[in-house]
Amino acid sequence: MRSPAPRGRWRSRPGGGSRRVDPGRTGGSGLPDPEPGTRAYSRGVVAPAHPEIAVPRPAFLFDLDGTLVDSVYQHVIAWQEALEDCGVPLSVWRIHRRIGMSGGLFLDALQRETGRRLDPATLERLSTLHAEHYLRRAGGVVPLPGARELVQLLHAEGMPFAVATSGSAVTADSALALLDLPPRTVVVTRDLVERAKPDPHLFLAAATLLGVDPRDSFVVGDSVWDLLAAQRAGALGVGLLSGGYGRAELQAAGAYRVYADPAEMLDRLEEVGVRPAR
Ligand SMILES: [Mg+2]
Repeated sequence: MRSPAPRGRWRSRPGGGSRRVDPGRTGGSGLPDPEPGTRAYSRGVVAPAHPEIAVPRPAFLFDLDGTLVDSVYQHVIAWQEALEDCGVPLSVWRIHRRIGMSGGLFLDALQRETGRRLDPATLERLSTLHAEHYLRRAGGVVPLPGARELVQLLHAEGMPFAVATSGSAVTADSALALLDLPPRTVVVTRDLVERAKPDPHLFLAAATLLGVDPRDSFVVGDSVWDLLAAQRAGALGVGLLSGGYGRAELQAAGAYRVYADPAEMLDRLEEVGVRPAR
């Protein structure tokens, strides 16, 4: 005697075979009835319909020169003039390639590239001369397009942000004054940490002062040194072309997104997960 046919319908599976769907248990959807507050999927997988997850708001850690202010070329020329004062001629493009990194590493690199060893007193004098030459040109430095608007929007939205620069307080101060930063904006300069970019110290210090996890942060910078430091800090890097580095270089150094300047980043802020209040 043959057994009675099982209740329910049979549905084919991709790749062959079939499974029985019991209409008494599925409500007609083909899936088991879920427990209250859960959603059931095929193969017996059940997940909460609305999982309780904590998603921190991102923080933004900005580089300064070439990122918020248009000052890269003033720094390049200031270094060239300082080097000439010390009898060390060096092509402008070689200097440009090092802008944004720690001043100490910059001087190490130029000694290698020029084949000249400089004594500690000369290295100290170079830093002083660079600051003097830069400050003479600082009147020509302006905010990059969209920089003030970007930080003002982040401030208005209550998004934490900070500025972290390899520059000294002496050279950074005039640039910061151009940005109309809100009171008590966190600023970390080279003077405050043991090592500058591409070491992560500046961005880690900025995140600490903001009270955020660097892994919840975007580092925004114009140089490969910013993006390498971002990777060391565990942050996502956003590259800007406004310092003279190319898109491919920034992406190779870890940029998650690349924009022309702060104005384009502001225009596409939703791409980095910022949803301004409407
Ligand atoms: Mg920079």
